[in-house]
Amino acid sequence: MLPPGSTIGILGGGQLGRMTAMAAARFGYKTHVFANEADAPAAQVAAAVTVAPFGDAAAVARFAAAVDVATCEFENVPAAALRRVAATRPVLPRPDILEIAQDRLREKNFLRGIGIATTEFRAVGGPDELAEAARGLGRPAVLKTVRLGYDGKGQVMLDADTGAEEAWRRMGAAHGILEAFVDFRCEISVIVARGADGALACYVPVENRHKNHILHQTIAPARITPDLANAATAIACRIVEEVRLVGVLAVEMFVTTAGAILVNELAPRPHNSGHWTIDACVTSQFEQLVRAVCGLPLGSPERHSDAVMTNLLGREVANWRAVLDEPNAKLHLYGKSAVRPGRKMGHVTRLLPRREAPTR
Ligand code: AMP
Repeated sequence: MLPPGSTIGILGGGQLGRMTAMAAARFGYKTHVFANEADAPAAQVAAAVTVAPFGDAAAVARFAAAVDVATCEFENVPAAALRRVAATRPVLPRPDILEIAQDRLREKNFLRGIGIATTEFRAVGGPDELAEAARGLGRPAVLKTVRLGYDGKGQVMLDADTGAEEAWRRMGAAHGILEAFVDFRCEISVIVARGADGALACYVPVENRHKNHILHQTIAPARITPDLANAATAIACRIVEEVRLVGVLAVEMFVTTAGAILVNELAPRPHNSGHWTIDACVTSQFEQLVRAVCGLPLGSPERHSDAVMTNLLGREVANWRAVLDEPNAKLHLYGKSAVRPGRKMGHVTRLLPRREAPTR
């Protein structure tokens, strides 16, 4: 167990790191953030910061020497940097788990390998293979980059008349994955924490609504039947147990119109769809991560309120002042100075009385 006063290293400087650092500070831990800019959201609230690119081996080694344990707030930290830290300090979740989540093909093959359903997919290495894969899977289909895609970046929809050459060019990477389009009723996610002792703490499944491929709103709990909620929870628990993850994992899933659950993506870190846990649960996803990586017992994931979390994207943040007049709204701003379209600038969690039964 790492006692309060120890230093938690956080690879990545975004809002997930910021909220992790704030949870760590509440327990008396210090955080040391590795970020590419001194004013990054997490750097603003950390005790120490290393400002360097992940490719700077000497900076990564200095960072490792200065921390007691390290975690990631961003799943695309290059494997070489993760392994460099792991050579001298515990990195939790383990680098090999992060490497599965960094690669959509490995991720889907891993899920299939443990009997968890995903949408049909094909690996594609060029426009000819793409045309062939589209004939196999049918259209519409979604072409994605195998690596480094998030928030819909690097994704191209193949409609009946989209040319393979054009789609390949728009995707813009050397390796792609073509996925059958999922006709979904809703998108849900489950966040589960696993402690160093193997204990699990699972949050209730939540429903996610996207706008332009970016999360817009999370509704907690998801409006799904208890059977679906139980099945989704069982999937998330199965995954963390399989990889013996220590930390927090978010599992994004589709509920199809036929009522099946297909896993879309894994994120072995706190997740945007878990921000509501700060204000509506006994223990937030960020506190669970701190507890897990420090070898402390996990806290209760029980919610005392239902909640709707709304992201403040780009210029929507200008309306922050009005949120303060709402009695049941909690405002979170990430300290980002540059406003860009679609950029996650903050979020609002609106608390609601807790309902027992899902409504759908
Ligand atoms: P991702 O980057 O994989 O999380 O995808 C971002 C969003 O695009 C998802 O949350 C869905 O709304 C949509 N999407 C991704 N893949 C598919 C698919 N195979 N079928 C339908 N919608 C998808």
